[in-house]
Amino acid sequence: MSFRNISKEALAGSVTLGFIFVAGYFLMKRKPFRMISKSHCGGKNNPLMQYVLRHSMREHPALAKLRETTLAHNGNRMMVACEQSQFMANLVRLIKSKKAIEIGVYTGYNTLNMALALPEDGVVVACDIDENFVNVGKPFWKEAGVEKKIDLRIQPALNTLDDLLAAGDAETFDFVFIDADKVNYDSYYEKSLKLIRKGGIIAIDNVLWGGRVLQPAADDLDTVAIDKLNKKLHRDARINLSMLTVGDGLTLAVKL
Ligand code: SAM
Ligand code: CA
Repeated sequence: MSFRNISKEALAGSVTLGFIFVAGYFLMKRKPFRMISKSHCGGKNNPLMQYVLRHSMREHPALAKLRETTLAHNGNRMMVACEQSQFMANLVRLIKSKKAIEIGVYTGYNTLNMALALPEDGVVVACDIDENFVNVGKPFWKEAGVEKKIDLRIQPALNTLDDLLAAGDAETFDFVFIDADKVNYDSYYEKSLKLIRKGGIIAIDNVLWGGRVLQPAADDLDTVAIDKLNKKLHRDARINLSMLTVGDGLTLAVKL
């Protein structure tokens, strides 16, 4: 059959199909898979996520208010997913934590959840560089009656971790949540490993980074740092390890 015998409609159909195939190929290359993501981001319109929330969330009223208040802010994508935060608060309870560290507080949703999970004499060292973000959360920490358990340090988190080590606090912490600037993740991890006791947990957020860890571009320093740490932790004999697909990916490292 010669090319001239093909009808215009058939030709148009073939061209359209070809275009869809090529576009689909490049879209798949950009977004290699669909993540469920956080309840307040990609999971917002996901019926299964809504089911999970309806059947599991037990938010303290002050936490619920802080979540709503944070959602009204630009940058609310930074907030930890409430279902992930509740999971981590349960880990804090499970290992009978008394001392925790949050590296990257933002408006303090997770800081508040940890403070609520800690005993009366517990403390969470809350590290951030931006007091404006943290000020959004402070009234809710007070409303929940746990602000005395929150030791807020406004300075680069690496300095705070060094201060804690210099004060002789090595091996005294039970739980650390790493969730600040990604290029420092490896340093946060190494210092946290010194600060926690055996059996303590380091939880590391955003370890899938929206799927970008599958194809880290050399000039994307955040993705490169996360991917490098993921690979290092896989071989790290100092810890037991789990990488969970909750939220944007959460690694749990348990110190041996
Ligand atoms: N964990 C928070 C939550 O539960 O909602 C979200 C944290 S947000 C993703 C990251 C935070 O890290 C921001 O508030 C930012 O100001 C803080 N940050 C960025 N660089 C930092 C640094 N070098 N030291 C301390 N905090 C930093
Ligand atoms: Ca995060």
